[in-house]
Amino acid sequence: MCGIVGYIGTTEARPVLLDGLRRLEYRGYDSAGLAVWDGQKINLAKIKGRVADLAGLLQQQSVKGTVGIAHTRWATHGEPTTANAHPHADCKNNVYVVHNGIVENYKALKDQLIREGHTFHSETDTEILSHLIEKYLTGATTLEQAVSRALKFVKGTYALLAIASSDPEKIVAARLSSPLRIGVSADQVFIASDPSALLNYTSRVVTLTDGELAVITRGNYTITSLEDGGAINREAETIDWNIDEIQKSGFDHFMLKEIFEQPETVINSTRGRLIPAEGRAVLGGLADVEDKLRALKRLTIVACGTASYAGLVGEYMLEEYADLPVEVCVASEFRYRKPSLIPREDAVLVISQSGETADTLAAVREAKAKGVLTLGIVNVIGSTISRETDAGVYNHAGPEISVCSTKVFMSQLTVLALLTLLLGRQRRMSLVTGQRIAAELAALPARMAELLAQADRIKTVAQHCQSAKNFFFCGRKYNYPIALEGALKLKEISYRHAEGLAAGELKHGPLAMVDEHFPVIFICPKDSVYEKNISNIQEVKARRGRVIAIATAGDTDIAAIADDVIYIPKTLEMLTPLLAVVPLQLFAYYIAQSLGVDIDKPRNLAKSVTVE
Ligand code: GLU
Repeated sequence: MCGIVGYIGTTEARPVLLDGLRRLEYRGYDSAGLAVWDGQKINLAKIKGRVADLAGLLQQQSVKGTVGIAHTRWATHGEPTTANAHPHADCKNNVYVVHNGIVENYKALKDQLIREGHTFHSETDTEILSHLIEKYLTGATTLEQAVSRALKFVKGTYALLAIASSDPEKIVAARLSSPLRIGVSADQVFIASDPSALLNYTSRVVTLTDGELAVITRGNYTITSLEDGGAINREAETIDWNIDEIQKSGFDHFMLKEIFEQPETVINSTRGRLIPAEGRAVLGGLADVEDKLRALKRLTIVACGTASYAGLVGEYMLEEYADLPVEVCVASEFRYRKPSLIPREDAVLVISQSGETADTLAAVREAKAKGVLTLGIVNVIGSTISRETDAGVYNHAGPEISVCSTKVFMSQLTVLALLTLLLGRQRRMSLVTGQRIAAELAALPARMAELLAQADRIKTVAQHCQSAKNFFFCGRKYNYPIALEGALKLKEISYRHAEGLAAGELKHGPLAMVDEHFPVIFICPKDSVYEKNISNIQEVKARRGRVIAIATAGDTDIAAIADDVIYIPKTLEMLTPLLAVVPLQLFAYYIAQSLGVDIDKPRNLAKSVTVE
């Protein structure tokens, strides 16, 4: 949520800052702003609305200089207004701050600062920070000393950048719980909430971790601990994401591009990890904990939203093939329910695209406090969750720009299938079964490409349902979580009401809703629960509901019952979710497209959910 960008270098800051903000737009925001040091003073421009509106404002307002900070805000304290947009200044218009996160004790601090004579111009918690820094920026103190002192009084979370006219030619950055990256290149330094805003300029990236402060000058950076001021040596890592991956490459939307990238995603997530001949998987990030994994008695998968549905598919995979009891819990519930976890017997596996999801991170900390092994499946390299878990697996899905996740979900399912192979072969899975799963997984990208070639047919099916306001998505066993995911995709981007159900639950209440205006999408490949699904389809047809079936290629019987059928290629039952989800993603996409909504940036949502 929200985006931070900073630049100090040799060229004009304004275009770099605007470009960075545009690349962070996908994270979700409601207002935008920037502040740039022109050699004499700091000039501010901010506005409620989009980055394009800020760019428009900057046509009229001259903002020149080579040191600047910028922000897209996702309001937590105070409405989305121009006054509440960041950067926020102190009383003297000397210090300017951008901030991602929440100052939890802002009320007490604000009252205190007002008593001391400070005047506030916004309703935000963030403005406390500029005034608090102002308070400590006296006489001979440097900006970094003032920031460090101010932060000692702050409770909450932050990624922040500060600049000051009284101590210019530097940007001070600090972080606690919200992400911040520093991109280095010769005589310029770029700062951003995530790498996608840096990669246009450099692939050399330093990740600031919690409790650290950085002083950034032209071509240089130093990191110290906020706790004791001790110097921290951190080299830049190379992030090999391709900038082309961050462009739309001719597709109308990032979501569509990312759906079509999925065969490649499966290849990238399995590269070097799958050994079909030996029927096993090698996951380097778990090598150090393999003995601990062998001894596990239970696994709790913790995640939010789409990632939690991937976790549910993982539950079916691991229970069937690794004989390991698995439970899935949404992260926002996990930490508050006082989970009973036993060290050495339990492990907690968290799944998060960004590796910064606040609820999921809290779950990692809760699990660690209970002394159990923590594992992560994370897409963003060097993210907080990847650092704080004991071991883990990177998705290698590349950047996902669309707020609505598709290819990262695919990579999560792929990694869970690899994990099933790894844990299964450690336990009771035979070589032959392992070989069959590995071979089917290796064959999946080609099958997915076949499926994607039917996009036009899926568009036609979506058009048949364009006027419907309510939908059910039903599935059983491995495809029950896919029913949940299909419904979530539709909700997220088309704002149509959709509910995902275990097909067997229909008759326990939801069936009352069904009539001829109510489409019900059944995911019913030829698998061990096929007959049961067919009975549920008959129940819907008997109530004149409109049935769309996602069925296995060659299943002609189903065409006689369903109103529309979308065929997916045949694969192993355990891997059907990886194919079945694709038409559901396209279905949601085409319905949203016909409604003309902002598909890549759905209203009210954010990509990287860094608040609880
Ligand atoms: N809490 C701050 C505000 O409401 C920052 C929100 C954000 O992370 O964008 O302004």
